[in-house]
Amino acid sequence: MALTETVPAAPAHEGILRRQSLRESAARTYARSLPIVPVRARGLTIEGADGRRYLDCLSGAGTLALGHNHPVVLEAIRAVLDSGAPLHVLDLATPVKDAFTTELFATLPRELAENARIQFCGPAGTDAVEAAFKLVRTATGRDGLMAFSGAYHGMTAEALAASGGAQHTSVVRLPYPYDYRCPFGTGGERGAELAARWTQSLLDDHKSGVPHPAGMILEPVQGEGGVIPAPDSWLRRMREITAARQIPLIVDEVQTGVGRTGAFWAVDHSGIVPDVIVLSKAIGGSLPLAVIVYREELDSWQPGAHAGTFRGNQLAMAAGAATLAYVRANGLCRRAGELGARMLTRLDSLAAAHDCIGEVRGRGLMLGVELVDRDAAADATGARPADPGLAAAVRDACLDRGLIVELGGRHSAVVRLLPPLTITDEQADAILDRLADALTAAVRTTPGPTGSSPTTMRGTTP
Ligand code: PMP
Repeated sequence: MALTETVPAAPAHEGILRRQSLRESAARTYARSLPIVPVRARGLTIEGADGRRYLDCLSGAGTLALGHNHPVVLEAIRAVLDSGAPLHVLDLATPVKDAFTTELFATLPRELAENARIQFCGPAGTDAVEAAFKLVRTATGRDGLMAFSGAYHGMTAEALAASGGAQHTSVVRLPYPYDYRCPFGTGGERGAELAARWTQSLLDDHKSGVPHPAGMILEPVQGEGGVIPAPDSWLRRMREITAARQIPLIVDEVQTGVGRTGAFWAVDHSGIVPDVIVLSKAIGGSLPLAVIVYREELDSWQPGAHAGTFRGNQLAMAAGAATLAYVRANGLCRRAGELGARMLTRLDSLAAAHDCIGEVRGRGLMLGVELVDRDAAADATGARPADPGLAAAVRDACLDRGLIVELGGRHSAVVRLLPPLTITDEQADAILDRLADALTAAVRTTPGPTGSSPTTMRGTTP
């Protein structure tokens, strides 16, 4: 090649990805498993700089209730920009904030909304979790917290301490009702009841070594923990147990909120009314916003007790109010419930055809497929060891087929689907077709964790 000849430039996306891996921290997350460079997006679809199109079932880790760039969200953002309103206002009152708060309160359980205070927090879910802990500690004068095995509440110090992955923590850990891997070996309602009894006995046994706590935090469906829906009866038990002992119950609806599980808030399924509800992700209509809403009686902290520069994102409030209103007006909670149930039925048939699926589960459009070692024997409760290698192979095979999914769960072996609530039946079918195809391909090419040869479908040979 002559020196003057131009070497063809690597596609822009390759250069961007290479520079990212050279410049960004080793802690980068999604960017590792999803080597794409999004440049355009609408609804369920993302287009990469390489021209490829993907169906996005990660949805900003469950943020995009209406998918990418929904017209009502864009219109709301444009209206603020065109109005000349200030974009930065600390925590001052504005018409945009007033409208957001009114819309949010209209969606909340009435018993809470009628007697509630809202605290605008720093922009991430984890900041709202910190605020909730601070609030209940101030209100009760107590210090300890109770949280659940497998939980995820965020990455700042206290939120992390209350999460399943914590290394150093003084937070008391309680058993979450996980049917497939029930810590009591029973599963079902019985397993959930035993989990509740354990919690109750820790609180009532004066020699349990657990001081009376400032609060208990739980997710109605553990998302990052592997899409594990708690039974409504267990949630009601947690409400009864905490109420009877004057322990504020903090419900983290960062991921489950805004219709995702088939009800506006996941607590609506069980009818429980939390003392504190933690909200973020979808409430900002794809922009950063996080709040806690809590019973007025808890509002005993001092002015400035949870300050922060970025608590007044006007664009997020406008986008969020538009999202809340759209979900409400268009019956998207019911739609998420019905479509999620249909998708779960199809996933059940996938499980029936594949030994490597231990369990499929979910609520609304929060769905998970737990992949297990197809060669291992089931334990006494029917569970088999997780297969994170296969799960990663399925995720990669999905990406090859233009489907973005992420993994969750104790062993990163649960393939998670969090599509927008606005998807059509055809799009839901396309997602499941691609997933089924990816699963078949991954099973064919990935040996089991115990080193056995790849197999294909249940009852067939490779
Ligand atoms: N709580 C739950 C239930 C979550 O799923 C998450 C995020 N996945 C958080 C809290 C933390 O939110 P953020 O990442 O915005 O800090």
